[in-house]
Amino acid sequence: MGGLSSSIRYIGLANKLMDITVAVRVERNERAKAGIATVVSCPYDGKDMKAVPKSGYGKGKNERTYRCGREHRIIVLSSTNGDWRGWM
Ligand SMILES: [Zn+2]
Repeated sequence: MGGLSSSIRYIGLANKLMDITVAVRVERNERAKAGIATVVSCPYDGKDMKAVPKSGYGKGKNERTYRCGREHRIIVLSSTNGDWRGWM
């Protein structure tokens, strides 16, 4: 792993966010189930974001919420083959 990173584009409805991409990288992490963890950079301040554990039902399984230490929240969507679709 190591250098596996990509950037994902905004697919929400707020015009002022249209040009903002979110950097995502995959890191080795012994504590994660798969041995790797996806780290998302906050689009507002560049800080690392953590995945928020799912609470309750009704959310798409290809949709994940990330939160940074300053309480910014974004939703990252992926397609069924694992590619990033965008954030909002
Ligand atoms: Zn932030």
